[in-house]
Amino acid sequence: IVERMKGTDLVGLDYEPLYRYSVPEEGRAHYVVDADFVSTEEGTGVVHTSALYGVDDLRLCQEKGIPFRHTVGLDGEFLPYVEKFAGLHVKEANPLIEDDLKTRGLLYKAETILHTYPECWRCGTPLIYYALDSWYVRTTERKAELIANNAATNWVPAHIKTGRMGDWLENNVDWAISRSRYWGTPLPFWVCDQCEEQRCISSAAEVGLPDDADLHRPYIDQVTIPCAKCGGVMRRIPEVLDTWFDSGSMPFAQRGHPRHGTKEFEETFPADFIAEAMDQTRGWFYSLLAISTLLFKQNAYRNVICLGLVVDPKGKKASKSRGNVLDPNFLFDNFGSDAVRWYFYTSTPVGENYRTSAETLRETVQQFFIPLWNCYSFFITYARLDKFDPSQSQVPVGERHVLDRWLLSRLSGLVETVTTGLDRYDANEPARKIQRFVDELSNWYVRRSRRRFWKSQSDRDKLAAYQTLY
Ligand SMILES: [Zn+2]
Ligand SMILES: [Zn+2]
Repeated sequence: IVERMKGTDLVGLDYEPLYRYSVPEEGRAHYVVDADFVSTEEGTGVVHTSALYGVDDLRLCQEKGIPFRHTVGLDGEFLPYVEKFAGLHVKEANPLIEDDLKTRGLLYKAETILHTYPECWRCGTPLIYYALDSWYVRTTERKAELIANNAATNWVPAHIKTGRMGDWLENNVDWAISRSRYWGTPLPFWVCDQCEEQRCISSAAEVGLPDDADLHRPYIDQVTIPCAKCGGVMRRIPEVLDTWFDSGSMPFAQRGHPRHGTKEFEETFPADFIAEAMDQTRGWFYSLLAISTLLFKQNAYRNVICLGLVVDPKGKKASKSRGNVLDPNFLFDNFGSDAVRWYFYTSTPVGENYRTSAETLRETVQQFFIPLWNCYSFFITYARLDKFDPSQSQVPVGERHVLDRWLLSRLSGLVETVTTGLDRYDANEPARKIQRFVDELSNWYVRRSRRRFWKSQSDRDKLAAYQTLY
């Protein structure tokens, strides 16, 4: 150790790069800058930055105006100008680079460290971060409108509006709408081979195709048009649309609007409500809001019910590899689809995760369905025996037993609560109130009224009991 110093003392110092391939013809690219995205837990001192192979790196280099160019191609291999390693895959090149540095006396220490690494979610192939040019929609320019349209929307639960969704909109970034994939809606942008003139196409006719032409890849990629500016050939760019753009176009695209279906579209837009899980704030909830704001200056939905996720009893996300996924068919077969549905209505407030297990479903059945079924079963058994006729004239409520009047009063209150709740797009509170009502019906009303149904004489009191329970 020659000398100890703070990182800040190094800021602004030039250094000699290990390889001169990326030294730009103009501008300064190899010097120490300050940044805050590496925590002290990861180490202190200087860290190497490569602009085109990491998000933080790119942002930092753009911010500092540091020039950069790719050293690696899209195939993951070093480009020809990186002579020593040209044509080698980056992973293959690693040991060779290490040897090379050692030979040149530039290696201080080589070691293996354990860290997370991105890989293909389907086949596990290690990936590299790679900066690419993309097509964007400049949503940041309409941020105030996005926020205003979200503010005019009813969120259930309410805190998502200014919380999760509000934060997302406050920190709005331009929408990267292009994807380098084979499948997807082709982006309708044609670019001139010669003068790079760009044109956005809005119909099949505009590129000389009949209305019923297949506009998907690969057919659409054969279609060229002449450049109006220089007479050159215009070709479609290879990218397809982000599928979220398709999802956000649903309200009008499903009707065919604006070419047809305009009446149906106008009659059904905006939607009364949509419901999805919490993770859709950045997904469908946003894509609908963004596209409708850009095109129609309003949100695509008036109300949105934002649900939690189904997790295991410990609150862990259900995943196949962890083996804690609960098969819905298992639940339907063992507890019935009504029980599954009721469980989701009642178990947790809207927006909270559902800690689901066979046990929680069993409780739902025991606490709600069995008491409800028992009340019904009790009623139907004696009503049949006594040949109860519901069309008989009603015993006035004021003349009925106090238990009857109590139950009818509870019922009338329940109807009001449920209606108010559902009008607010809240299913949880009403469902819980219904569950409580069934508990009162079973444990108080039926239990304490049994003798009135059992007695042998069919008097007015018995009729009132039947009419009340009916
Ligand atoms: Zn893969
Ligand atoms: Zn041109």
